Amino acid sequence: MKLCDMHTHSDNSFDAKSAVDELCQAAIKSGLYAMAVTDHCEAEFINLGENCEFGSFDRQIPQSVRDINSAKEKYRDKLLVIRGLELGEPMHDPEQTSHALAYADFDFILASVHNLRGRDDFYYLDYKTVDVTELLNEYFDELAETAAFEHFDSLAHLTYPLRYIVEREGYYPDLSPFSEKIDRIFNILIQNKKALEINVSGLFKSIGRTLPDEPLVRRFFELGGEYVTIGTDSHSSKMVGKGIEQGIAVAKAAGFKHYAIYRNHKPILIPIET
Ligand SMILES: [Zn+2]
Ligand SMILES: [Zn+2]
Repeated sequence: MKLCDMHTHSDNSFDAKSAVDELCQAAIKSGLYAMAVTDHCEAEFINLGENCEFGSFDRQIPQSVRDINSAKEKYRDKLLVIRGLELGEPMHDPEQTSHALAYADFDFILASVHNLRGRDDFYYLDYKTVDVTELLNEYFDELAETAAFEHFDSLAHLTYPLRYIVEREGYYPDLSPFSEKIDRIFNILIQNKKALEINVSGLFKSIGRTLPDEPLVRRFFELGGEYVTIGTDSHSSKMVGKGIEQGIAVAKAAGFKHYAIYRNHKPILIPIET
């Protein structure tokens, strides 16, 4: 079966360290058929330039695209390298989001929510002092808004805040109070023919499951979801391809017969073999 990793970060992301070339070599070594490099662009902060705590996206993303383009050429017979982007909070600032989209002709865009409007990244929140129910309500509302955004292909790591809640507080919040909100997100994705990402990074963290986990992926399928993408969210070459098979198993258990990779924003279906 073809294994594809649709979410990786190179050293053009502020929090990652491997060059695109190293990611490609790791991908080939792990026997991947395709890999998307999806460096971070937190659109609302582009205007801050080098003063941004994440560095200048105006510098990082064009460099990421150049590195991906050379790797595409260099490894053309061994690996399908996909020109991707992880676009953070596209709904926070439409103007800067358009600026981000104009960096290149991307093949694949992951849309993510790492921070709510006016709040810090979920990574920095103190879950002892925030009202978790209120936070998750806001989170799922923002995801529904993001799902309605036109220019992306797959919605990244749904349940992202839970990763930190489990890590720091040691419990997995009951999501049943949010089921209507989550259904709304899925229905918008389905209507707009967008994919849901199965992010396997959680398998190697205390949360111990994919983001989102199998019951949620199954719900997406039951509602009529057609496309899932699978990604490791690797921030180092060591993690490239790790857990993709488990991610495929989650998709299969949820009912999917295929998962998707993207070229020019068009899904290409990879059959899940039994
Ligand atoms: Zn992310
Ligand atoms: Zn990521």
